[in-house]
Amino acid sequence: MSEPIVTYRNVHKAFGDVKVLKGIDLDIFPAEKIAVIGPSGSGKTTIIRMLMTLEEPTSGDIIIDGTNLWKMAKNGKMIRANEKHLRDVRGDIGMVFQHFNLFPHMTILENCMAAPIHVKKEDKREVHERAIQMLERVGLGDKLNNYPSQLSGGQKQRVAMARALVMRPKIMLFDEVTSALDPELVGEVLEVIRDIARNDDMAMVLVTHEMDFALDIADKVLFLDNGVIAEQGTANEVIEHSTNERLQTFLHRFR
Ligand code: ADP
Repeated sequence: MSEPIVTYRNVHKAFGDVKVLKGIDLDIFPAEKIAVIGPSGSGKTTIIRMLMTLEEPTSGDIIIDGTNLWKMAKNGKMIRANEKHLRDVRGDIGMVFQHFNLFPHMTILENCMAAPIHVKKEDKREVHERAIQMLERVGLGDKLNNYPSQLSGGQKQRVAMARALVMRPKIMLFDEVTSALDPELVGEVLEVIRDIARNDDMAMVLVTHEMDFALDIADKVLFLDNGVIAEQGTANEVIEHSTNERLQTFLHRFR
């Protein structure tokens, strides 16, 4: 088996006195598709935000490409280990949020081109071509010059995905990307993720409440409960055949 690209080792996270994560151990392998499920407030978003370095762990290791993202300073605080490594790592990770986070004053094509040009300093013409390709791929090839405000929520979320894909990440993180959408727009967004999952070899971590979707695309499902990974296995094992009572109760609400 290949080496994991990401390893969490005994990761804890507290916000003030509230212990949100209490010892997370997790490997993410190249091309692996992982769904994270669990009750609201169980720490799902925090797990992926720490990988994006948007949140620091309270203790533990998060290792990407063999290097720890964080180290403990003398005063016990976790600080970023190495800014250069961090910049490289950030370029390898794409994240799609619940609330799109598009730049309102840029067209959707400009939205997709901004980071590769300004952050990665890539060639403008190449990025332009790739951005068009990706927007076509998510079904928005006819909206290149529209502004986000002219699009539906589902379309905006598809732009956010195209924008992440243009960066050619090794890992894509999806944080409940359909939960802010009207129900009739959910399907088109899931369809795009399905397409990415089937055809791209990047690793994907999806925080989701869409159980049938997780069953369909995930290699591995994690059930997060009370700050620990209470159950993990194939989608079939966790969603269809687990005997964990809290998981059963949780799943009952979504089926
Ligand atoms: P989930 O994604 O499973 O709903 P989150 O990871 O968003 O859970 O949040 C886990 C817990 O951490 C929640 O109780 C939430 O209120 C708390 N939390 C998350 N972010 C912060 C923050 N920046 N400051 C304080 N508490 C936070």
